[in-house]
Amino acid sequence: MNIDSIKNGIVLDHITAGRGMDIYKSLELDQLDCSVAIIKNVKSSKMGKKDIIKISDNFEVNFDVLGYIDPEITVCVIENGKVESKHKVELPKMIKNIAKCKNPRCITSVEQEIDHIFKLTDRENQVYRCIYCESKLKKN
Ligand SMILES: [Zn+2]
Repeated sequence: MNIDSIKNGIVLDHITAGRGMDIYKSLELDQLDCSVAIIKNVKSSKMGKKDIIKISDNFEVNFDVLGYIDPEITVCVIENGKVESKHKVELPKMIKNIAKCKNPRCITSVEQEIDHIFKLTDRENQVYRCIYCESKLKKN
């Protein structure tokens, strides 16, 4: 794949350098049939270094996953070789089944069927708490 020119697809831009692989795994991009390129440590005037992911097909991006991992990302939708639209991701207010509660006494640890839900309780410090036991979620 020519990584500079995608006709139709998705480009995830402004990924914090080093997080490209996390995002690749979290979005399950290995499941896709189309070409996917992770470009690491691209020079950026704004960020110093950044990662970029290019997906050569239309793909329904899970904004909650992206926002949770890296709220700085820009999602660019490419159509006919041009940027059709750009979307900023942001920290989701709530995340469902993206992370798991680590508290062994939490009901989600006991009951397998229950959704793992965390609420954003402190946007500035990016703190999420389990809605069942209020345990703080540690990122990664
Ligand atoms: Zn919990």
